[in-house]
Amino acid sequence: MAKIYLDHGATTPLHPEVLEAMKPYLTDLFGNPSSLHSFGREVRKGLEEAREKAAAAIGAEEREIVFTSGGTESDNLAIRGVARAARQRGNHIITSAVEHHAVLDACLGLREEGFDVTVLPVDGYGMVRVSDVEAAITDQTILISIMLANNEVGTLQPVAEIGKIARGRGVVFHTDAVQAIGNLPVNVNDLHCDLLALSAHKHYGPKGVGVLYVRKGTRLKVFNFGGSQERKMRPGTENVPGIIGMGRAIELAVQELDKKADRIRKLRDKLIAGVLEIGDVRLNGHPTERLPGNVNVSVRYVEGESLILSLDLKGIAASSGSACTSGSLDPSHVLLAMGLDHQTAHGSLRLTLGAGNTEEEIDYVLSVMPEIVSRLRSMSPVYAGQRRD
Ligand SMILES: *Cc1c(COP(=O)(O)O)cnc(C)c1O
Repeated sequence: MAKIYLDHGATTPLHPEVLEAMKPYLTDLFGNPSSLHSFGREVRKGLEEAREKAAAAIGAEEREIVFTSGGTESDNLAIRGVARAARQRGNHIITSAVEHHAVLDACLGLREEGFDVTVLPVDGYGMVRVSDVEAAITDQTILISIMLANNEVGTLQPVAEIGKIARGRGVVFHTDAVQAIGNLPVNVNDLHCDLLALSAHKHYGPKGVGVLYVRKGTRLKVFNFGGSQERKMRPGTENVPGIIGMGRAIELAVQELDKKADRIRKLRDKLIAGVLEIGDVRLNGHPTERLPGNVNVSVRYVEGESLILSLDLKGIAASSGSACTSGSLDPSHVLLAMGLDHQTAHGSLRLTLGAGNTEEEIDYVLSVMPEIVSRLRSMSPVYAGQRRD
């Protein structure tokens, strides 16, 4: 049976060259990078090279790169770290309704601690309005956190414009760029951001490692204590093989960006066009300002979960909403924020393409989808009532 992976938004396979780069650090190069002897020094050298690669990939300086355990930790460290450091200056935080839970729940957690949190609405495409951000800023605002690219519907946010406004008003600006890196150019200076989160496993690196970019001069109050690794912002012996993998993966992600993104975008557009032809299917997210590999649709009269299971029987891996919300019966907070009713949100299907996908695979998906959808619809009492024939 075919085995087609269309869930790159959830995670990506390891790039073979990333595995090669990591191997020595899982075997011979086992020293602790904090050790003074040659075993330690050699590993330290690899670690600092990985830091150079991460910095170069996003236009940062090496000392502005903090290696973490992934996107979730980077987002939490950024948001909670800034909030705690700036408490004396103000208590207002601005974010959006379509953020990843790592951002949204970190902000809502701060609300319980007495911070005033504004969760901005989005338009029908899932996009934050720059004017809303501007209007929400008060003299109490200490932090704005708006993602670069949405993980569920792929919509790209006007982050550079928001960053410029934040800078002008003296407000610290964080962006979650986990889905963006490798899919579009990411430069911390063009984006005018002070903090930026990345995760290796979303760009063909290993799981459990990420980066928080911290612009020099940005104050964070950390919550873990121990050694002085990562300039005390992330104490504890480093995940050396992971960091080496992250360095190589981000280097490759940037090098291969143009070639890969164009090819994937073409496949995406073919997939979108084909799926819309089924009828009573709605594209969720922005038609053009979206991640090159993201397809998110609502198939009327069908539940997302049933679709995913039927596709899985045909060897096709897809998801509904985000991996984190699958398994619960709550519809996606992103789709609801975009104004979809519960039923339409429940019928959502996310197909996220990546480097390994081929046109033959897309053809196969499009050949089995109509049959699956009509079978599921034929079992739906709602559909029977709506049928015009
Ligand atoms: C996957 C993801 C995260 C979480 O990253 P982990 O490394 O899995 O913790 C955060 N934000 C976005 C947008 C993501 O897609």
